[in-house]
Amino acid sequence: MINSKSNRQKILIVDDTKINLAILSDVLKDDYTVITASSGEEALEIIFSDTLPDLILLDVVMTGISGYDVCKKLKDTPLTKNIPVIFITGKISVEDETYGFKLGAVDYISKPFSPIIVKARVNTHSELKKHRDYLESISYLDGLTGVFNRRKFDEHLWEQLNYCYNTKRTLSLMIFDIDHFKSFNDLYGHEEGDQCLKKIASMTSEYICEKKGLLARYGGEEFASIFSGNSKEADFAIAETIRKNIYNDKIPNENSLVEPFVTVSIGIANLVPDIETSCKYMIEAADKQLYLAKKTGRNRVCML
Ligand code: GH3
Ligand code: MG
Ligand code: MG
Repeated sequence: MINSKSNRQKILIVDDTKINLAILSDVLKDDYTVITASSGEEALEIIFSDTLPDLILLDVVMTGISGYDVCKKLKDTPLTKNIPVIFITGKISVEDETYGFKLGAVDYISKPFSPIIVKARVNTHSELKKHRDYLESISYLDGLTGVFNRRKFDEHLWEQLNYCYNTKRTLSLMIFDIDHFKSFNDLYGHEEGDQCLKKIASMTSEYICEKKGLLARYGGEEFASIFSGNSKEADFAIAETIRKNIYNDKIPNENSLVEPFVTVSIGIANLVPDIETSCKYMIEAADKQLYLAKKTGRNRVCML
């Protein structure tokens, strides 16, 4: 549903004059989820403690931290730097406006404002934000299987490596590789091979999501999964469940040298990262285990 509340974009209005907050909220509340803050401090607290707003309407002159400083802080922070900021202010000289744009604002509205014009400008920037969010989300997905792609995998592994290092948690990387998939393609054709990859991705992604992991297509017929805070036993159990689910599905692969159906081998690296641990190290460690699983008969899980 186009305007259902859950799909609504969230707008944060920041102004130290109550009447302005009331007027702006009133004009936007039918189309957006509106939240308000009456100071720069309150705005920052809301932004960093809740889900991020899609757009911020920001007064400049306020007691305490100014709108310019709020904007500066947001633009300097990777998490918030892409939130569009519209200044709405009584500071209307060309220099003020130029300065606002220089800080990274997408628009500058002078007070006294026309609610209708504010709404029109908010609509324009919200629409742009929606398209940008959509493009960003699909740029992280694998075109064939719909699970995350290698780009997302690389970013997520890096983030999780830092997170686990800082919090002394275990980081787990699992690499799944379909056994004798070349034989599958040779026998059934590439198109069927693609269908098989899609099926394996969809069978696996829901379960991994349930276990709070991330699944990505790592390469051609390889998938990878990242978890944090799991014990070795938990990882092993997850990987075994995936292996068995695929095994039990009995997708024919008659020329496989393991079984006459599709099977996977899984390599796992599970460790608490230290200062020396890199993404490359994690991948090599999981790959080594995958190689071991292949060498010792395939259709099995090996773990560091
Ligand atoms: P192993 O058990 O050692 O992993 O053997 P394998 O045959 O699976 O491994 P190999 O690396 O020799 O071959 C991988 C095959 O995966 C070859 C390639 O055609 C196929 N493949 C890779 N990406 C895709 C894809 O996107 N679609 C299809 N249909 N096949 C793919
Ligand atoms: Mg492979
Ligand atoms: Mg393979």
